[in-house]
Amino acid sequence: MIEPFASRPAPKLVFGPGALRELPACVRTAGGTAVFLVSDPGIARAGYLARAERLLSDAGLPVTTFTESRENPTESDAAACAAAARTQPFDCFVALGGGSSLDTAKAANFLFTNGGVMHDYHGYGKATKPLLPLIAIPTTAGTGSETQSYTLISRDGSHEKMACGDPSALPRIAILDPELTATLPRTTATLSGLDALTHALESSVCTKRNAVSSLYAEAAFRHLSSAIARVVTGLPTEADRSDMLLGAAFAGLAIENSMLGAAHASANPLTARHGVVHGHAVAHMLPAVMRFNSSDPAAAAIYARLESLLRATGTTTLPLIDWFTDIVARSALPPLDATKIDFALLADDATRQWTGKFNPRALQAEDFVALYRRAFSPHATG
Ligand SMILES: [Zn+2]
Repeated sequence: MIEPFASRPAPKLVFGPGALRELPACVRTAGGTAVFLVSDPGIARAGYLARAERLLSDAGLPVTTFTESRENPTESDAAACAAAARTQPFDCFVALGGGSSLDTAKAANFLFTNGGVMHDYHGYGKATKPLLPLIAIPTTAGTGSETQSYTLISRDGSHEKMACGDPSALPRIAILDPELTATLPRTTATLSGLDALTHALESSVCTKRNAVSSLYAEAAFRHLSSAIARVVTGLPTEADRSDMLLGAAFAGLAIENSMLGAAHASANPLTARHGVVHGHAVAHMLPAVMRFNSSDPAAAAIYARLESLLRATGTTTLPLIDWFTDIVARSALPPLDATKIDFALLADDATRQWTGKFNPRALQAEDFVALYRRAFSPHATG
């Protein structure tokens, strides 16, 4: 029996090495005549920003640039970007950078078009006027923000991450150019890649999964799993970078059409209270969550299908969870010190995470404590 569903639209995807050169045509396709370009200092240093500016100005498209996007953008960061947007007329946002640049641009789009502050848009569909078209150009293969109608913004004064979404916040076009990820440092590529893989694995089994999200999740898993082993050891090929970038965008579409689960719910408090980077936190928690979920027969069947995919592609002969645990072990991430962590406190935070509500098995606080114990046990096999 196919469960009823209503799919969400996807941005137009423009994929290929060198696809950045399609930017002026994409702006015109989106109806834009002048651009507000959102990026960050690292992208400026890498020279990508200047390339994008030159492409636009050579095509006769005026461009104003904001390069102050920061990691884990806050309400104030969004307001600063929106204030910069008000200095020159424009009719199309372009976001060039990692997930933080993309989320900052999306958030500024809410404020620029609808006013107010970001917590006014916490939830979905709170904008009363349509947002401007946005073209997203990710330079990391990770968050999948380029294919989602949500932006993640931290509330000022607390660590609370707010998901603010609207149908018109979905990027109109995502330009996926693997050449832009060629200069990523190993750690950044590893952390964002593990996050993308976690998106594929969590959305595969979440309670909101459906025929469309499952297509995207499985395709994402196929692309990401074929390349991740070389990404985490710092030796990705050109083909691997293509697989990672497309896989992350597909994983974003899987989330857009379904949800996530307990790995994100248990990881977010680790990030908020202990500063563990998001990709590290979700990858640390995922094996314990998958073992917990495996007692749900439907989730176990989905994991088994993904495991058979690993075999069929010659990726590994290990069981799925052992394979993922091994990938994380080879990632050379700094060890997390369990002695400084209050599991009960984190578990309490985790039960309030919206994303945890969609895990295939419901969790109480004591279940989250058990997940943390397992994930932080030195003898855990995952
Ligand atoms: Zn994530």
